[in-house]
Amino acid sequence: MTDAFAAAVLRWFDEHGRKHLPWQQNITPYRVWLSEIMLQQTQVTTVIPYFERFTNAFPCVQDLAAAPLDEVLHLWTGLGYYARARNLHKCAQQVVDEHCGAFPETVEALAALPGIGESTAGAIVSIAFKKHAAILDGNVKRVLARYHAIAGWPGQSGTLKALWEKARLHTPEQRCNHYTQAMMDLGSMLCTRTRPACESCPVGDGCVARATGQQLAYPGKKPKKDKPVKATYLLMLRSPAGELLLEQRAATGIWGGLWSFPELALEQKVAEFCTTRYGEPGTIEYWDSYRHTFSHYHLDITPVLVQLGREPDRVMEAGGALWYNVHQPENVGLAAPVKRLLESLARLDPLSARPEESL
Ligand code: SF4
Repeated sequence: MTDAFAAAVLRWFDEHGRKHLPWQQNITPYRVWLSEIMLQQTQVTTVIPYFERFTNAFPCVQDLAAAPLDEVLHLWTGLGYYARARNLHKCAQQVVDEHCGAFPETVEALAALPGIGESTAGAIVSIAFKKHAAILDGNVKRVLARYHAIAGWPGQSGTLKALWEKARLHTPEQRCNHYTQAMMDLGSMLCTRTRPACESCPVGDGCVARATGQQLAYPGKKPKKDKPVKATYLLMLRSPAGELLLEQRAATGIWGGLWSFPELALEQKVAEFCTTRYGEPGTIEYWDSYRHTFSHYHLDITPVLVQLGREPDRVMEAGGALWYNVHQPENVGLAAPVKRLLESLARLDPLSARPEESL
C-alpha cells in the first residue's frame, strides 16, 4: 500500500529526483553497495569522483576482494572515516568467500556483513533488488523527525525506535526503489539541516515542524560533552636524499592501516629519539602546532622536520616502514594530516626533486 506521504514523495521524485548519478546507471548490488558506503556521512558531489575511480580500478566485487588493502586505502585517501574503507574491503572478501561473489538479498543477511547497518542494507535491498525494505539514514531521520515532530536525539534508542516505526509505516510496497532514492534526495535537496525549503516540499502540508515553525528543533541534538585534548609530535624524518620516513599504523585505532609519520608523545625528546635511531640529526625545525579533531577527541599536532645527518639503514626499516619521495608518491593510503604535510614538503623541498628534472 502507498500512503499519502509516500505518494506525494514519489510524485515529487518523478519530477525533481536525481536520476543521473553514476551509481544509478548500470545498477548492480555491487555498485549500489559501494555508493551507499561512500555516501555515509559524505556528500554526493564529493563521492562521485571516488566512485568513478573505484569502479574503474575494481569493476566487480571479486576485483575489490583481491586487491591489497593498501591500494583500497590509497584510492580512499581524502574520503575520511577510514574504518569504512577497511570494512569495505573485508565485506568484499566475505561476499566472495561466503556468498560465492553474490550479495545476499535480505536485510538480515546484508546487515551481518562488515560495515553494513540496517539502513544501508535496506537501501541495497530496495534499490538493487527492487524489494520492499525501509531505510533510515541521516537525511531520512531529519525529514521524519520534522514531519512527525519526533523529539530527541536519534542516537537515543527511544527516538531511533520511533523514527524506524515511521520509516516502515511510510515505505510503500510498490516502487520502493524510487521511494528510497526520493527520501534521500528530499533530505539532501529540500529538508536541509539549516535552511529547509518548506515552500517546495511535497509533504509540507502535513509537516508538524513546519506548521509550528520549529523545523530547526528537529532532530534533537546530541547531548554535548567536552572532548578531551591530546597532543603529539609528528616527526618528518628526512634523509640526505630527501626521502621521508613513513610507518604503517596498526590496523585498529585512528588512521588504522594508513601510512603516517612516526609519532612521539610530547614528553619525549625529539633529538634523543633521532640520535638513538639515526645518529646525530643535522637540523630540527619545529613547525606551528594545529588542531585535528576526531569524533572523540582533539589532537594538537606539532610537525617537526628533522634533517638526518646520514643515510638511514634501509634494512633496519624493512616491513611496516618506507622512505617516501614526495615527488614520486607511492600508491599507499595516507592519513589526511600526513597527506597535507607531504604536500607542503613537496612545495618546500627542492632537495628531492626528480633526478631527471634536476639534471
Ligand atoms: S515541510 Fe520543511 S521541515 Fe517539513 S519535511 Fe518538508 S522541508 Fe522538511
